[in-house]
Amino acid sequence: MKNGEFIHTIESLKGSSHEYGKCEICNKHCTEVFILDEKKYYTIPDVICKQRKIAKGSLGITAYGCILSKFGHKECLEKMKKERIKLNKNNFSPQNMT
Ligand SMILES: [Zn+2]
Repeated sequence: MKNGEFIHTIESLKGSSHEYGKCEICNKHCTEVFILDEKKYYTIPDVICKQRKIAKGSLGITAYGCILSKFGHKECLEKMKKERIKLNKNNFSPQNMT
């Protein structure tokens, strides 16, 4: 794991579109709805590391700059996940978060 790297999780909600609504990506019915969650690693600023008494350059986890949870087909979410990772690589610039 490194600064700016995504953490993606895809989990089943164990229910169909009747309960959770249509796929947010392709707008079609799902027999099983999944949820995609996105977070990111970031380097904790030195001043915060000092405050928290943790090692300089430690990584934290943030939802900053991440998409909100998406609901839909597993295949659609996997595709979105790949696109997000690709986009992240192209545009990656370390951000200084406080
Ligand atoms: Zn879909």
